[in-house]
Amino acid sequence: MAADTDWRLQGQERYLKGAVVVYRKYRRPSESWDHDHCEFCLSKFTEESSDPNVQTEGYATRDDDRWICSKCFTDFKERFALITCDTTDDGG
Ligand SMILES: [Zn+2]
Repeated sequence: MAADTDWRLQGQERYLKGAVVVYRKYRRPSESWDHDHCEFCLSKFTEESSDPNVQTEGYATRDDDRWICSKCFTDFKERFALITCDTTDDGG
């Protein structure tokens, strides 16, 4: 559990509270946009990397807008009441 004063907390409650997330490989959203950052620690996500500090998979919100690394997910899932979903199916 992270403390209230954790540096990674920047008001994400506004858009991440109760979010449904899926653990999967990172996929770039477009040809001109090849990476994202963890919503909390700003760790970088790319499709391929040999750098251990760069994430190639993690927890994504179902609309794919936002990424959360495994460490931050563990630290914040209870605080944010994050819901994990096993499927990337958008139907329904
Ligand atoms: Zn993170």
